[in-house]
Amino acid sequence: MIKVPLPLILIIPSVDFMAAGLANAIIRVEHVKKIYKSKDLEYEAIRDISMHVNKGEFVTIIGPSGSGKTTLLDLIGTLDTPTNGRIFIDGIDTSKFGDDGLSQLRNRKIGFIFQSYNLVPYLSALQNATLPLMVDGLDNSDTIERAKFLLSEMGLGQKLEKKPTELSGGEQQRVAIARALVNNPPIILADEPTGNLDSKSAEIVLNMLKRLGKNNGVTIVLVTHDPHVASLSERSIYLKDGLVEKDTKTRKTKVRK
Ligand code: ADP
Ligand code: MG
Repeated sequence: MIKVPLPLILIIPSVDFMAAGLANAIIRVEHVKKIYKSKDLEYEAIRDISMHVNKGEFVTIIGPSGSGKTTLLDLIGTLDTPTNGRIFIDGIDTSKFGDDGLSQLRNRKIGFIFQSYNLVPYLSALQNATLPLMVDGLDNSDTIERAKFLLSEMGLGQKLEKKPTELSGGEQQRVAIARALVNNPPIILADEPTGNLDSKSAEIVLNMLKRLGKNNGVTIVLVTHDPHVASLSERSIYLKDGLVEKDTKTRKTKVRK
């Protein structure tokens, strides 16, 4: 009998997995369903979704209000659990983890950006950007330098000490982008990140996210209802009534320097 060392067995992907072209998938959603249950009501927000996102891709999830975009993003971000189906993040089956394990997984693998920025009002831009490092006990000088670098890259080098109320919406969202990137996560999940911004600030924020994402090899999944925002990504997944309606490659656009 040929002896194969155990670690080798664990890293050999199955033939099905390879055949399906999933070897590069950093996010894998398999037959996921989400039913919200309250007293006597049940609502099927995600009916049956399977999709994957490859390493380094910039994908938008687009669809009308109520189509299940936020629900799907929250499930991918392990902020909520599917009623059925499985989600793999960087090859890890998230259904095998409890709350503590999932929170560690999120800290290491995922940066979140929300429509309402979610900055801490009494902390400065720099402190907000370093928040994930403090949670992880990593706020040493190197990582604080990284936060400063990211903020400077986003044109906020002179505003490190400003509180969120002293910053415009676009600037606050740029602080939130720095916060999402500071841990060097392989994945960024953004839910309508430009939903509260005027079109000029939105354009700036999206281009910065795109450029920093590319420079750092980050995979970005961005939820939007805006076709213009979707046109800036490489691929768009259209949701309708909790199902994927279509999944299309977007025209390649140049990243502004
Ligand atoms: P989108 O982000 O595309 O606007 P959502 O994912 O927020 O859509 O919601 C999808 C559907 O699920 C909507 O009909 C919404 O009302 C419903 N829904 C979302 N969250 C909950 C919840 N916590 N409880 C019950 N229903 C919910
Ligand atoms: Mg939403």
